[in-house]
Amino acid sequence: MAAMNIATRLIDTHMHLHTAQFDSDRAAVFERALSHGVMRMIEIGYDRESSRAAVQLAESDPRIYAVVGIQPHYAAEANASWLAEIRQLATHPKVVAIGEIGLDYYHDRAPHAQQEQLFREQLALARELALPVVIHSREAQADTVRILRDAAHGQPGIMHSFSGNWEYAESCLEVGFHLSFSGPVTFPKAVELHDVARRTPIDRILTETDSPYLSPHPFRGRRNEPGNVRLVAEQLAALRDVPFDVLANAVWQNACALFQLPELP
Ligand SMILES: [Zn+2]
Repeated sequence: MAAMNIATRLIDTHMHLHTAQFDSDRAAVFERALSHGVMRMIEIGYDRESSRAAVQLAESDPRIYAVVGIQPHYAAEANASWLAEIRQLATHPKVVAIGEIGLDYYHDRAPHAQQEQLFREQLALARELALPVVIHSREAQADTVRILRDAAHGQPGIMHSFSGNWEYAESCLEVGFHLSFSGPVTFPKAVELHDVARRTPIDRILTETDSPYLSPHPFRGRRNEPGNVRLVAEQLAALRDVPFDVLANAVWQNACALFQLPELP
């Protein structure tokens, strides 16, 4: 089969490479990612500026795509003009989803009702534009599931940097969402997350780094970069007891289908 000749391709579905942490060596970071087989990367916005930056970064390299949206941290200040700009950015041909959007009761920087309203507005925007959603949820599992069941059922989406137990994972899978695993799944003591990674159907798994955050073992605490998504994929393959290529190819296909990415030449 022709597929035997294609090198294993990896994808980082969630990074923030426009941030200042990469200003001194962004080009070298890209090159390292490529040398690890990371053939596609998705830059994620979280407010207006980072969403603009994501689109710019996507324009700079054919391997990079963009996601635009407003994180719950800004729910108190985000107004109609913010959403109008996200809507406008979302029409760019390299924008592949709306995100990161959701609820954050850990940082808790905005009232929950305002977080929910902004979340629902952006779920509706994504539905209208026929784009998937990238969900950020911290210490807000019950409300996240309630809103997704009510407002996003049947809409394609990703639980970004999934953390939680199998019961929560099942609820997200029932809504139809994918689970994206990041650095923490490589931590030896993350047994609950290991369990989720073993039980998630292979066609619902994605990989990400959330660079510059969440570095995988053994780089925990250091700046993360997209090349490290290889360590996440290796850990998922080991946990599931499947060959690395099988896991990587499944993730690649899942991501291309979800984000509607074109075939590589
Ligand atoms: Zn993020």
